[in-house]
Amino acid sequence: MGLYERIKDVAKQIQKTGNTELYGQLIELGAEALDMQNEIVSLSAENTELKKMKDIENRIERHTEPYITLKDAPSQILYCSHCWDYEEKLIQVKCYDSGSFKCTHCENNGTYDTVKYEEYLQRERAAFRNLSESNRRNRW
Ligand SMILES: [Zn+2]
Repeated sequence: MGLYERIKDVAKQIQKTGNTELYGQLIELGAEALDMQNEIVSLSAENTELKKMKDIENRIERHTEPYITLKDAPSQILYCSHCWDYEEKLIQVKCYDSGSFKCTHCENNGTYDTVKYEEYLQRERAAFRNLSESNRRNRW
């Protein structure tokens, strides 16, 4: 039997005795007990959330670039360090083949793979050189 039902049972028994003062006191105590029960539920939920955040905080690995990863994660997912630091939210960043990344929430960006990024820059430079040469040839 829950707290509310038990209070109701006692209130009925007191009501039968005709003691209105005692009945009134029980109703007030019952209201306070229910408020406290609601607060316990709310604090328990908040406590669960804080434990979850603390667990994540202990698993965070920082990197030179502005992204974070989680220790012992089954797959290496990159999260935005800015969103974690300011909002305590794990926002997965978008990783590009160029070796760069960007947060879809705050647009924080950087490089997650310098080798890939260097290869991307070399491809871009080569494409630009080819375009320049073909433009020069077309002029003559
Ligand atoms: Zn972000």
